[in-house]
Amino acid sequence: MTYQVLARKWRPQSFSSLIGQEAIVTALRNALTEGRIAQAYLFSGIRGVGKTTAARVLAKALNCEKGPAADPCNECIACIEITRGSDLDVQEVDAATYSKVEQVRDLTESLKYGPARDRYKVVVLDEIHRLSRQAFDALLKIVEEPPAHLVFIFATTEIDAVPATILSRCQEFHFRRVPSLLLSGHLRSICEAEAIAASDTALRLIARAGEGSVRDSVALLDQLATFGSGTIADEDAIRLLGGLDTALFHELLAAIVAGDAPAVVGFVSRIQDEGWDPRHVYGQFLSFCRDALHLGLGGAPEQIDLPGEEAVALAELARGAGYENLLRLLHQLLASEQVVRRSEAGVLALEIAWLRAAELPKLARVEDILAGVQSAAAPASARPPRTAPGPPPPPPSRNSAPPPSPPARTEPAAPPPASSAPAGEPVQAFIEAVSRRKAPFAALLAQADVTVRDGELRITVPSEDVLLETRLQQPAYRLVVEESVAAVFGPGVAWRSVRGEPKKKAEPPPAEPDRARAAENPQVQAVLDIFGGRVETVEEHGSLREEP
Ligand SMILES: [Zn+2]
Repeated sequence: MTYQVLARKWRPQSFSSLIGQEAIVTALRNALTEGRIAQAYLFSGIRGVGKTTAARVLAKALNCEKGPAADPCNECIACIEITRGSDLDVQEVDAATYSKVEQVRDLTESLKYGPARDRYKVVVLDEIHRLSRQAFDALLKIVEEPPAHLVFIFATTEIDAVPATILSRCQEFHFRRVPSLLLSGHLRSICEAEAIAASDTALRLIARAGEGSVRDSVALLDQLATFGSGTIADEDAIRLLGGLDTALFHELLAAIVAGDAPAVVGFVSRIQDEGWDPRHVYGQFLSFCRDALHLGLGGAPEQIDLPGEEAVALAELARGAGYENLLRLLHQLLASEQVVRRSEAGVLALEIAWLRAAELPKLARVEDILAGVQSAAAPASARPPRTAPGPPPPPPSRNSAPPPSPPARTEPAAPPPASSAPAGEPVQAFIEAVSRRKAPFAALLAQADVTVRDGELRITVPSEDVLLETRLQQPAYRLVVEESVAAVFGPGVAWRSVRGEPKKKAEPPPAEPDRARAAENPQVQAVLDIFGGRVETVEEHGSLREEP
């Protein structure tokens, strides 16, 4: 298979090229130089971090014609044969295929005799934890009283499964996961030597996906290079390897919600240290927050694209944070998205955006915000007197705005029915909220008469609109409505659909200049900021427009 080729080709043949295990390399080299040779070594650690590679280099160092030496020459017969795996005195055994007692007995029997040619007989026993109990017992005899010429090197990914009787006889070295920065540097040198084109982002993703395993990372690099015929595209790397793990996002969200700025700063440096693309991370965190918002609304954890346990944990975090705060947070993060995307100093922009999010005061229900916006947007005559707290709205810009032209529709809107909220911003925000979830459905809803009445949202379905009526009976669409109602009016606000008269022809939208001018109005902007909507229609409600 192609993807094994690079890993084999780039397998280190000396201690100095073993990546990320400096402490072990130093200890082994010192011991070799000083002639302190243990009779049994135990190398533990996850797969692909260099355990069997180090075992082979150690075997060479012990048996090199110019040794025992801290660095084998890689040129003598012993070195060459050990590299090839053909040295009779160096045996590599995989315990997984060697777990019968008889096999271990045969092995230990053969080890009583001295080496055929080399200085030491070396037995590398890989995955030693897979030996049976009896096989361990058979092995223990010779490990307890080994002949002078014999060196055992055991390797295991599960140190806890190795019996204490064996452990106590071994000099143990724990191989750590290789940090991703070091790994991506290693991948970079392979790419340069192999003429593979890959960006730093792609290499970081690969290193990250390798989870500290050199072998896995190199194998992934090989796979992706083969896939792209020698070029690794960022999109392929992102698509095939996924992104940051969600546990990190969970902690970050918890820190932001708790207003824990030092923790947020810690995450930012971690992202920087691990070499993540801040734009990519920012986008991923946004969708994570969106999942949190859905869960905060009572969405089922199974609907979220997260492993079960993580989704349940996120649902708990979301409930604790409160729906309003999550909505506010998401809004704030969305508002900064373009800044992070365009910024040259991506990490700095990301840090500022997250810190600002962490500083958000814990609010204030959405209904209250809505009420505030509505009163601010009301006709000037209905506004509270200037002595009321809060600054007056800024005057409209004199530089850019052309003199106001007559509005497209001059007749005042019909007075709303008693105890009914005026159709307008909240309803529009509701349609927008639906649109973000299911745009075609929002287009259908926009044809219906949507009003807020007696504390509930009412969707009056035109009698001939069979499609909308059907949709409103389907659970998936009902959920969209529920989420959107909760998103705009807060949780617990009821909604229902009623069948109405055949629909009237929709009014044409007003001319573009009116909408553009309306969108510049500070109060309208406040609404747009909060709900992320756009101006669809402009209606005249009084004397708000001119304040000489
Ligand atoms: Zn040699």
